[in-house]
Amino acid sequence: GEMLPTDLNELLSEFTKLAFHGMRAGKEPIELDLQLDLDPNLPMVKLIKEDFSRVIINLCNNSFDAMRGKIRTKSKKSGAYQPQLIIRTKATKKHIRIEIADNGPGIPDEIKDKILQPFFTTKKGTEGTGLGLSITHDIVKAHGGEILIDTSLGKGTVFTIQLEKDQVS
Ligand code: ADP
Ligand code: MG
Repeated sequence: GEMLPTDLNELLSEFTKLAFHGMRAGKEPIELDLQLDLDPNLPMVKLIKEDFSRVIINLCNNSFDAMRGKIRTKSKKSGAYQPQLIIRTKATKKHIRIEIADNGPGIPDEIKDKILQPFFTTKKGTEGTGLGLSITHDIVKAHGGEILIDTSLGKGTVFTIQLEKDQVS
């Protein structure tokens, strides 16, 4: 791929349509509440589109897996749970941020420091390779950015991809 000026808002809206359909089809369909909150003033961003699509797919897939897991445990107990994914873009003075926020189970403290490492997974058998986040991290670093993780047990997880504005626009 080549570094090209990209409209991240457009990339995200295209992608989300696909993801939305994916979540409602397949062997384990879920009724996803999907929300896009896109900054209309987001500048064009220079990036490798294929690689960035991979980043978004990896993060969303993790959220989907996490929320599916929560549906399984919740349905055993009681209480309704509405899986929700919010995808946000935001431009600040210095940064461009993409946030993927789910209301899944959250990430326990004990594993928070390990999840970016290659081959670390909590998924059983062939469900997880543990490579998604390590590849995601490599791609984001190659664009001069970083990944921020904000998570709360039982409430959900926000993955933020933060890019330096002067590096990418
Ligand atoms: P994999 O998805 O194959 O397990 P990843 O590198 O994508 O590998 O993720 C590593 C681990 O991080 C997952 O197994 C899971 O335990 C945890 N994780 C990642 N994203 C989330 C999330 N949104 N909510 C809860 N746990 C997560
Ligand atoms: Mg993954």
